[in-house]
Amino acid sequence: MYCGHGRGKLTAEPEYLNPEMMQTELQRRAYLRAMGIDVWIPRDQADAEPDIEALQDPVGELDWDELRSAVSGCTRCRLHETRTQTVFGVGSLVADWMIVGEAPGAEEDRRGEPFVGRAGKLLDEMLRAIGESRASVFIANVLKCRPPNNRDPKPDESTACRSHLERQIELVQPKVIVAVGRVAAHLLLDTDEPVGRMRGKVHQLGDTPLLVTYHPAYLLRSPSQKRKSWDDLCLARRVMSGASV
Ligand code: URA
Repeated sequence: MYCGHGRGKLTAEPEYLNPEMMQTELQRRAYLRAMGIDVWIPRDQADAEPDIEALQDPVGELDWDELRSAVSGCTRCRLHETRTQTVFGVGSLVADWMIVGEAPGAEEDRRGEPFVGRAGKLLDEMLRAIGESRASVFIANVLKCRPPNNRDPKPDESTACRSHLERQIELVQPKVIVAVGRVAAHLLLDTDEPVGRMRGKVHQLGDTPLLVTYHPAYLLRSPSQKRKSWDDLCLARRVMSGASV
């Protein structure tokens, strides 16, 4: 199972959201429940409590078909209640490039494919500019379900969905990962640094080089930043081809 770095930064959130601690806490609660002992959960944590049985169901060994079906039936967090469908990811299953975004929006939720709205059109153009396409790379999101009103993913939602993305990365085995935007960069690198400070550098996710760049939705609002994203993609291409950077 891929697990290339520490996850300490999630402790900025309530401590039980750290994945290891959360697992222990969930096991404790499951144990108490199994013994018929009432488990009291603080009111501010009750909504965030993910589905215990689902979290104990490992995805680390699943093949593509199994993973796809685990995602489409997922009830690990409450987003399954409001989604039209899950958005698994699209592209080549043996891609050199993996692009990781944030979460499906309204259009993606309707069509079941990531990055098909306005931001997606820009992502397509960015890929074309480096000689790639949505068929040649693999595109996935941190979350596979749309957060209502396109709000930011909540930490418990990212935590619950994380192993799906990790398994996708393990199965694709990309030569380079590009995290587009703050949410993907923060989850994958366990940091809360601003994108502006993370971009332009080569990070590592386990053995895989990872670059951070601006989210296409941000570039639509701030076109003057497109030049920097272009530089990031050129750097990623050099990394991908094994050139020294
Ligand atoms: N933004 C994302 O991060 N992902 C999508 O799939 C669409 C918009």
